[in-house]
Amino acid sequence: MTATIAETTDLTGQMLIAGALVSGTGDEIRGVDPAAGTPLEPAYRYGDDSHVDAACAAAAEAFGPYRATTSERRARFLEAIAANIEAISTPLIARAVAESGLPQARITGEVGRTTGQLRLFAAVLREGSWTGARIDPALPDRAPLPRPDIRQRSIPLGPVAVFGASNFPLAFSVAGGDTASALAAGCPVVVKAHDAHPGTSELVGRAIADAVAAEGMPAGTFSLLYGYGPALGTALVTDPRIKAVGFTGSRSGGMALVAAAAARPEPIPVYAEMSSINPVFLLDGALASRGSDLGRAFVGSLTMGSGQFCTNPGLVIAVDGPGLDAFVAAAREALEQSAATPMLTSDIAARYAAGVESLGAEAELVVRGAEGDGGGTCQAALFTTDAGRFSGSEVLQAEVFGSSSLIVRCADADEVKAVAENLEGQLTATVHADEADHEAAATLLPTLETKAGRILFNGWPTGVEVGYAQVHGGPFPATSDSRTTSVGARAIERFLRPVAYQDVPKGLLPSEIADGNPDALWRRVDGRLTKD
Ligand code: NAP
Repeated sequence: MTATIAETTDLTGQMLIAGALVSGTGDEIRGVDPAAGTPLEPAYRYGDDSHVDAACAAAAEAFGPYRATTSERRARFLEAIAANIEAISTPLIARAVAESGLPQARITGEVGRTTGQLRLFAAVLREGSWTGARIDPALPDRAPLPRPDIRQRSIPLGPVAVFGASNFPLAFSVAGGDTASALAAGCPVVVKAHDAHPGTSELVGRAIADAVAAEGMPAGTFSLLYGYGPALGTALVTDPRIKAVGFTGSRSGGMALVAAAAARPEPIPVYAEMSSINPVFLLDGALASRGSDLGRAFVGSLTMGSGQFCTNPGLVIAVDGPGLDAFVAAAREALEQSAATPMLTSDIAARYAAGVESLGAEAELVVRGAEGDGGGTCQAALFTTDAGRFSGSEVLQAEVFGSSSLIVRCADADEVKAVAENLEGQLTATVHADEADHEAAATLLPTLETKAGRILFNGWPTGVEVGYAQVHGGPFPATSDSRTTSVGARAIERFLRPVAYQDVPKGLLPSEIADGNPDALWRRVDGRLTKD
C-alpha cells in the first residue's frame, strides 16, 4: 500500500484498494488512442492474487457496517459519487474520448447517463419498495393450527465483483449500472477495470473512493483492480468472499465467468449480459408506406458508435417484395456513404473483420460502407439471405459486434413467424408496423415476449432509456439470467435476497418490517399494499 488518494486528476497508474493507491506487480498495459493508434500515459500494471485477496478481505470487512447504513445514507453516498464525477467531467471526458475513440458528444452524454443512474438508485433507495417489506400478522386463533407472525424483507447478498465493459467506458464501467445497483443494495463492490480504458477507470474509481471517505462509508466498500481476465478476473469470481458478479462483454467471457462461479464450492449468481443480434421485424404495411425512410433510419442506428452497442440492429426480417426492395435500396445508398469510424480496440476491430468475413461466406453481400485508413476502423457491412439458410446456420445467427447486419427475406408471414420462433434469446426485438399491420403484430408478439427482454415498436433498439420500467436483459445468450435487468431501477434486485422473520421479538425486528412502519414504506400487510 502506498500513497493516499491525490486530489488532483493527474493519473497515477495505480489500483485502488479500500481507499489506498496501490501499484500493480504484473504486466504493463496502457490506454491506447484507437484513432491514432498511440499509447497513452501512464502505464498501469496488473494486480496479482495478493491484490484480489486484499480487495476481497476489505470488502468482506466492509459488508457488515455498509449494509447497516440507512437507505438515506446510501442515497447520499450515490449522489456524492455523481457529484464527484461531474466535478471532474472535463478531464474525464477528454480521457474517455482519447481511450475509446468515441465522439465527445457521445461521451458527454454518457457522463450524464452515469450520474443519472446513480441518482436513480438514490431515488429507488428513498422510495423504499426495494426492501420488499411484507407482513403476515399472526393468527393465534386459526384452526386447526395458529399462524405465526411472519415478516419479510430483502437484504444484500454481500461483496459483488463487477467487470467494466469496453463499449460504455462510463455507463457500463467502474461507476456504471452494475456498481450503482450493487452499492444501492448495500453490497461492497470490487471492480475489474477493462483494459481498453484504464485512465478513465482510475478517474472514476477515485471519484467513488473520495465519496466513500467523505460520506464515512467503510473503506472496503469499493476497490478497483487491473488485471488479465482469465487470471485476476477468475481469481476475483472464485474468491469465497465474493457473492455475486456483474458483467457486460462477450459470450465467451461471460460464459467463462458463469462456469467459474458455478464450479466454486459455494456457487454464486453471475449476471452476464453477453450477446444479442436484436431482430427488427418490418411488417408489410410499414414497408409499403415508408420502406425507404426505414432503410435510411436503420443505417443511422446500425452505424452509430461504429455499431458497438449490445442493442445494435444486427438482423432485419421481412416478407420479400417491393417494400423490402425500397428498404434495401435506401439502406444501400446510405451505407455506401457511411464513413469508416474507429473501433474501441484493435482486438475488437479484428473480431469484427473476422465476423464480417464469416457472414460473407454464408450470406450474399448487399453493400459495404466506405473503407477506413487503418486496420482499427469499422467498415459497415450489410448482407442478405433467405429464411431457410438463416435458420440452419449458427454463423448467420451469431453476434458480429460492429456495424454489420443481415436481412432475412421471407416468403410470407408464416415464415417470418418461424424465423422468430427459431431465434436465440435477445436483448431487444423491434417491430415496425402501421395500423394495418396490428393483426400481424399481435400474432408475432407472444413469440417475441419469449425471445427478448425489451420489445419496441416503430423505433430503433440503440439507445436504452434508464428508468423504472426499463428491461435490459433477456433469455440466453443475451444474458446468463433472464429474470433480471442490468439497466433501470429493477437492477438492484440482482443483488438482494429475501429473508423471512418468524415470531422474531418486536424489539429485534429491522425497521422496514417493524410495527408502526417507522420507515413509512409501502408494505404488503396480510396481502394488501399499505402505508399503515
Ligand atoms: P470481453 O472479451 O468479454 O471482456 C470483458 C471483460 O471480461 C474484460 O475485463 C476481460 O478481461 C474479461 N474476460 C474476458 N474473458 C474472460 C475469461 N475467460 N475469464 C475471465 N475474465 C474474462 O469483451 P470486450 O473486451 O469488451 O470485447 C470483446 C468482444 O465482446 C467484442 O468483440 C464483442 O463481440 C463482445 N462484446 C459484446 C457486448 C455486448 O453488450 N453484447 C459488449 C462489449 C463487447 P481481459 O480483457 O483482461 O481478458
